[in-house]
Amino acid sequence: TLESQYSISSKNDLYLSTPKKLLIDGEWQDSVSGGTFEVRNPATEEVIARVTDGQAADIDLAVKAARRAFESGPWARMTPSDRSKIIWKIADLLEENADQFAELEALDNGKPITVAKAADVALAVDLFRYMAGWATKINGDSISISVPYMPGEQFHTYTKKEPVGVVGQIIPWNFPLLMAAWKLGPALATGCTIVLKPAEETPLSAIRLGELMMEAGLPKGVVNIVTGFGETAGAPLAAHPDVDKIAFTGSTDIGRLIVKAAGETNLKKVTLELGGKSPNIILDDADLDLAIPGAASAIFFNHGQCCCAGSRLMVQESIFDKVVEGVAEFAQNIKVGNGLDAATQMGPLVSTDQFNRVSGFLDSGKQQGARAVTGGNRFGDTGYFVEPTVFVDTRSDMRIVQEEIFGPVVCAMPFKGIEDVAAAANGTDFGLAAGIWTRDVSKAHSVANVIRAGNVWINCYNIFDAALPFGGYKQSGWGREMGKEAIDLYTETKAVTIRL
Ligand code: ADP
Repeated sequence: TLESQYSISSKNDLYLSTPKKLLIDGEWQDSVSGGTFEVRNPATEEVIARVTDGQAADIDLAVKAARRAFESGPWARMTPSDRSKIIWKIADLLEENADQFAELEALDNGKPITVAKAADVALAVDLFRYMAGWATKINGDSISISVPYMPGEQFHTYTKKEPVGVVGQIIPWNFPLLMAAWKLGPALATGCTIVLKPAEETPLSAIRLGELMMEAGLPKGVVNIVTGFGETAGAPLAAHPDVDKIAFTGSTDIGRLIVKAAGETNLKKVTLELGGKSPNIILDDADLDLAIPGAASAIFFNHGQCCCAGSRLMVQESIFDKVVEGVAEFAQNIKVGNGLDAATQMGPLVSTDQFNRVSGFLDSGKQQGARAVTGGNRFGDTGYFVEPTVFVDTRSDMRIVQEEIFGPVVCAMPFKGIEDVAAAANGTDFGLAAGIWTRDVSKAHSVANVIRAGNVWINCYNIFDAALPFGGYKQSGWGREMGKEAIDLYTETKAVTIRL
């Protein structure tokens, strides 16, 4: 039980009271080494659960189970319609347990429980339903061909979309349940089998989801969940010779290691969803009653721990002061606190590492001459809280302008005319998302056209739907999550040609 002032539901009290195991071949198992590690609540720094420390030997067992399930288990013979029903059932069970999941996310990640329920859990439920629909609609084409070196002969060709096979999925801690759903949904819809490695900071909701997936009737070995650390569980998964694809979401630096591991082993397929430094552009004709709160939420949602956070606020000169003042006021009014409190709007950062990282950026910004109009410091003295921060007087060569901070820290910068926007907006190594705020339809589309990013939001920000592809240009990633694109990336195309 917790000593903090917030009582937790009896369901989670019970769930957290037993050490969490690995899901391998349909059984909850200890690791080969027998090791475990502690999981902490970032708001109180208290230990809330013990989780199994999966390592290379466990990854290997999980990959073998996934291979068996893929090659010879009931999953391989199941009809798309039966697969669809199981995925739909997972969504139903998740929805029935929405309160438990929202509370788990608040405890484990620190995010506000109200946000977890309205966004993380609701989007995860919807994702599974959307992907359940795809299971029965994965088809190839028929193609007419003419072969110049075989004159007079006729052929008929069709393509089939087949599951890519055993996939390794490595996910981050910022949306623990939702990232699991984004990864698992399309892999299940296409008929792949999976080894999922949740983030060591936030493994609790993925393990609970594993329980529900078994309850939904998923055959053993289809989804295996190995909790553990990046270097000791993630790296062996990325390097495993019998994994056909690795899907990774996390930092750009680790993304490079994943690609290297794939290249040095079996050239497994790789998809990556990496960092960002997304521009949020406000033109002088924008509706500021929308744009100011929009720009604030773009960076402060999930405490800035979003790969698509609108962390570079680019404002046209004439309205710069007004917008900065508005965003700073918004920041000052955010209620920071324990995620279990229904009134909380912003929780702590996820871990002591992230706290130190973000604090380092706050120091670096000040040292390089930027000015914090609001925030810039730690919030309180317990838990990994930092103040929502707005920096001005920034230059393009500053670390806070170029690098992903992954905290509630925005750099506001003025620009002269719309013709200056593209170069500045595209002036980082990333290309994940962008926001544009204007009343002028033509300007909106012109700017959207020149932005090199996978997602552009006009007069809105952080809009997600299971049908919308999400992912990045440049060093923000390879491939897309969600939508039809995700289905394509979990399939191989086979072209079958018949001589008539
Ligand atoms: P962050 O720095 O924000 O925690 P990471 O990219 O380090 O982001 O972590 C995202 C995921 O990648 C986590 O599940 C983590 O355990 C995993 N990971 C970290 N290092 C490695 C690695 N060397 N190989 C494979 N996975 C890793």
